[in-house]
Amino acid sequence: MEVSFHEEIKALRLGQGQSFHGEGILAITKALLQSGVSYVGGYQGAPVSHLLDVMVQAKPYMDELGVHVEACSNEASAAAMLGASIHYPVRGAVTWKSIVGTNVAADALSNLSSPGVTGGVLIVVGEDYGEGASVIQERTHAYALKSGMCLLDPRPDLPQMVHMVEKGFELSEASHMPVILELRIRACHVRGSFEARDNVAPVWSKQNLIPDPTRFDYMRLAHPPVTFVHEKLKSQERIPAARRFITEHQLNESLAGGEHADLGLIVQGGLYNTLIRTLQQFGLADALGQSSLAIHVLNVAWPLVPEELSRFCADKRAVLLLEEGQPEYIEQELALALRRQDLQTPLHGKDMLPSGGEYTAEVMAGGLLAFLDRHRPAAVPESTRQWLQGNATRRQAVQQALGAPLPARPPGMCIGCPERPVFSALKLAQQDVGPVHISGDIGCHALATFEPFSVGHSILGYGMSLASRAGVSPLMKRRVLSVMGDGGFWHNGLLTGVQSALFNGDDAVLLIFKNGYTSATGTQDIINTPEEATKEAASDKRQSLAHTNQTIESTLKGLGVQWLRTVHTYHVDEMKATLTEAFTTGFQGLKVIVAEGECQLERQRRIKPWLAALQAKGERVEHVKYGVDEDVCNGDHACIRLSGCPTLTLKDNPDPLKVDPVATVIDGCVGCGLCGANAHAATLCPSFYRAEVVRNARWPERLRSGLQAAARRLLQKA
Ligand code: SF4
Ligand code: SF4
Repeated sequence: MEVSFHEEIKALRLGQGQSFHGEGILAITKALLQSGVSYVGGYQGAPVSHLLDVMVQAKPYMDELGVHVEACSNEASAAAMLGASIHYPVRGAVTWKSIVGTNVAADALSNLSSPGVTGGVLIVVGEDYGEGASVIQERTHAYALKSGMCLLDPRPDLPQMVHMVEKGFELSEASHMPVILELRIRACHVRGSFEARDNVAPVWSKQNLIPDPTRFDYMRLAHPPVTFVHEKLKSQERIPAARRFITEHQLNESLAGGEHADLGLIVQGGLYNTLIRTLQQFGLADALGQSSLAIHVLNVAWPLVPEELSRFCADKRAVLLLEEGQPEYIEQELALALRRQDLQTPLHGKDMLPSGGEYTAEVMAGGLLAFLDRHRPAAVPESTRQWLQGNATRRQAVQQALGAPLPARPPGMCIGCPERPVFSALKLAQQDVGPVHISGDIGCHALATFEPFSVGHSILGYGMSLASRAGVSPLMKRRVLSVMGDGGFWHNGLLTGVQSALFNGDDAVLLIFKNGYTSATGTQDIINTPEEATKEAASDKRQSLAHTNQTIESTLKGLGVQWLRTVHTYHVDEMKATLTEAFTTGFQGLKVIVAEGECQLERQRRIKPWLAALQAKGERVEHVKYGVDEDVCNGDHACIRLSGCPTLTLKDNPDPLKVDPVATVIDGCVGCGLCGANAHAATLCPSFYRAEVVRNARWPERLRSGLQAAARRLLQKA
């Protein structure tokens, strides 16, 4: 990964009394070191990628502290790493994106939760839920419930988040339960400050090794018959111990309220800031966040402490629970707790708030309005009703004025992305062989599900495309194509897909994008990333270096793949021919096409400083750009339908006798060559040209260029 986290690493070194300023996720990272963690692992994914990225780059400092950092191959391997804390009094933390990552980790989490832990365990999950989320909308809460893991949901305020990390480890040790700390997107990116403490070098670490393995203890295995004992331990000892700890250390916060303190709000910690903003819209909270209504903040979303909740609800005229997502786990448990205590306080929640979707301030305002209208209508200012009504009216007016919803602006691949040409070739190949069923996957290539490609019939998980065609391809007349990135291949695809297809002798076609990085999660390095030394030594750094690492090819050959082709992605003609061959060959086994082309984002990060340095030294630097001759372009836009590059776009036709806009290449073209390759492969109109922009040109070049320009002017006059 070429992004530098130099500044972030400096923040990790802050000591007692120094001020930390920055983002929530970095504060969490620092808090892990303050908690004396012995090992850290994980699999990157928004919104928690930073935690692992920073730790990986801070390796020399981690070595100083003795902390082991592992960039795991997937979330299952990260969760399995926590096995170290079953026997040994060592604290460990892992991180990933949830819900998808937690799904992958589920088996190891069950096997960890059953025997329980000795050393504190913290699982930092990015709760990718709501506006801006990129995964299935489900809740991590379900895993906490089913496996018996504590679930922290800290109020998004840096000192509080750091406090909850430190207390999270203690809670884990007191209850022997793994602890999940969920961070929503906004909590990860909230900015603030806290007073740092010294980092704590762990007792057992790479600097101070455990002398002997612990004695054999069958109780520490998730095997019958002790699993039956574990189940009882969870409910009879661990959950009560966790509840005691939560109460004694006041992890949840009960805020008394002011004028309307007889009305209560119970809120998941992560939603607290939005709730205060909502109350401010009603004039029911001041600028410092002092609320007129009483608030109970659940910094621990599970286990709930029934006595604590009953105490809060007992003297309330009514209570509203703000619980994001569905099903309403907390509401069900709260209703049960009140019923068991025979408390008659009216409880509202999903009856007044939407069952799913992010609870933004506006959404919360709708629920709060319903609650107050029922129990304290006088507390609702007219201005708030007008604000909500005004929003609805404005939306309606915009929709009416437009006559239709605004066109979607889906994300797309980067300019010059090496994956785009493959989808151009796939479009062309299908013109010859007919449409094929395409199993998609997670990764940058999933952006091809949008226009102009609209490719991919299903996505069943990261690295699952080959496995997910196993039921389709035997029933389909034409061969099915599975598309996978190299990130997905190593995450899961090699075993669930390739191994299974080979074992079953499946007639399948797999296309692997070998761009050299796990690009979609932030271009982290993987086992087939070009070596640093290779990058340094590359005499022409413009070249794609994907071919320099052959780990994927040798793995496939070693496993027994017999039909294997490697094609450079920008060679559209060759890719089209190879795809066509894979769809039509008489060979019945697994056919794998490795589409090789280094991630353009990483390539640009590599070559830009190199080119800038050359230019600064006065050396000749050449940039390639593509363009469209507007006099030749016939305005049919076939090139755009075949490419989708954001810099290949439209402009008004300069010819007053023509109405169709012409294609044009705007600034930003990185000269990847796809425009030329497509024009050739699809026999498009001859309007594309390739230009070389030369900086620090030598005098013969300047002279030649000057003569050429003069000749052009003469010809234009003639
Ligand atoms: S990050 Fe790399 S692989 Fe992903 S879209 Fe951009 S250029 Fe393509
Ligand atoms: S050559 Fe074409 S596809 Fe490549 S970056 Fe330039 S405009 Fe985009």
